[in-house]
Amino acid sequence: MDKSPPPRTDEHTFNQPLGGNTMPRFAGPATMMRLPAAPSAAGLDACFVGVPLDIGTSNRSGARFAPRQIRAESCLLRPYNMGTGAAPFDSMQVADIGDIAINTFNLARSVAIIENAFDEIVRTNCVPLTIGGDHTIVLPILRAIRKKHGPVGLVHVDAHADTNDTMFGEKVTHGTPFRRAIEEELIDCRRAVQIGLRGTGYSSEDFDWTRSHGVRVVQAEECWGRSLTPLMSEIRASFGNGPVYLSFDIDGLDPSFAPGTGTPEIAGLTVPQGLEIIRGCRGLAVIGADLVEVSPPYDPTGNTSLLAANLLYEMLCILPKATYRKR
Ligand code: MN
Ligand code: MN
Repeated sequence: MDKSPPPRTDEHTFNQPLGGNTMPRFAGPATMMRLPAAPSAAGLDACFVGVPLDIGTSNRSGARFAPRQIRAESCLLRPYNMGTGAAPFDSMQVADIGDIAINTFNLARSVAIIENAFDEIVRTNCVPLTIGGDHTIVLPILRAIRKKHGPVGLVHVDAHADTNDTMFGEKVTHGTPFRRAIEEELIDCRRAVQIGLRGTGYSSEDFDWTRSHGVRVVQAEECWGRSLTPLMSEIRASFGNGPVYLSFDIDGLDPSFAPGTGTPEIAGLTVPQGLEIIRGCRGLAVIGADLVEVSPPYDPTGNTSLLAANLLYEMLCILPKATYRKR
């Protein structure tokens, strides 16, 4: 059987999002960006994958609905990035591989299911762009990634450090994943940064635990009213060429922009600052990324999900294989 790819004739050798002049944007497939669906990550450079889990949340739930809602809002996304010149579908094979069948009655089993699913994705050399789900999911994702890449660098955007030891006695929740990840040496703390942390806590130790392990913590107050482009230059210089994972909790952004989330904190990052962080990851060896904690029941306008869809697209644009057209 001939398995060779079709001959390359033009830029449309790769999967393209279904265009708005081919099918109305409010119709057609309900995949991310109206890309083709694929049964697995095999043969893909990058994939969108949903993890509809919210049984790790401590306050408002609802993130289980986010993969579906973010895909719905992503119908408005076009393939070319007017701001940066990125044309990710000129050079990468991308598809939506659907959702992971978590067990919504059992968090521990769900974590194992997620790890198994990401073992498979990582084995194929496909870069996963994960649509959460609450932040618990980053722990099994990082466990899978470590098996291939070793401890990875981390860019973590969040209002919260997510480094509680336990919550209500539980070791695995959406408020503990980075504590576990550091304990399990899934992260190279010398190449790790948390950006946007703020709000009320129990003590200063809430943000100092990661600092004590060598992680750089940039609290929201340091970000107010300024560009984060210089910060990202520093991060690129200090992170070097090793693999990096990008984890973006939507609550890192201000609740005026992203109200549809479970644990909102006031005075967060702006949307342009969020873009500066993601775009500033271009040049890093990003081997995976996620967008977590969108809760559609608290997002009646759909704006939070629309924002999340755009951020996921921006993540695709900064992957090492993405090409940029001359501007
Ligand atoms: Mn958070
Ligand atoms: Mn978080």
